[in-house]
Amino acid sequence: MTCPVCKTKDARRSRRQFAVDYFLSGFGVYPWRCRNCETRFYARLMPLNDALHAHCPLCGNPELKRISADYVNSPLSFLWRFLRIPAYRCEPCRHKYFSIKPYRHRSAEVGQLSSAD
Ligand SMILES: [Zn+2]
Ligand SMILES: [Zn+2]
Repeated sequence: MTCPVCKTKDARRSRRQFAVDYFLSGFGVYPWRCRNCETRFYARLMPLNDALHAHCPLCGNPELKRISADYVNSPLSFLWRFLRIPAYRCEPCRHKYFSIKPYRHRSAEVGQLSSAD
């Protein structure tokens, strides 16, 4: 990652410390620190297009499976169900969660899927 201040390519991912770090990471934006000038800055790890679509918050896997909201065990499940927020399951790490980001359909089956809903 290139440092925006000194332009060296020596910036490394910094540990998330603040609430804003966690909030931004939800959009694919992570804190970085330049090892040359010690500047801390935020940058996207993935293209914006990916960040705007649902992906697993644990492993970053974008190949999510739409599941019934009944399968997700979280204290706020009843609220998400009420709001009809879609639930997803990540196959690699088995993480189940709700996301308001649209799932990226890989092929032309988008129309068929939504009409069958
Ligand atoms: Zn720097
Ligand atoms: Zn995952």
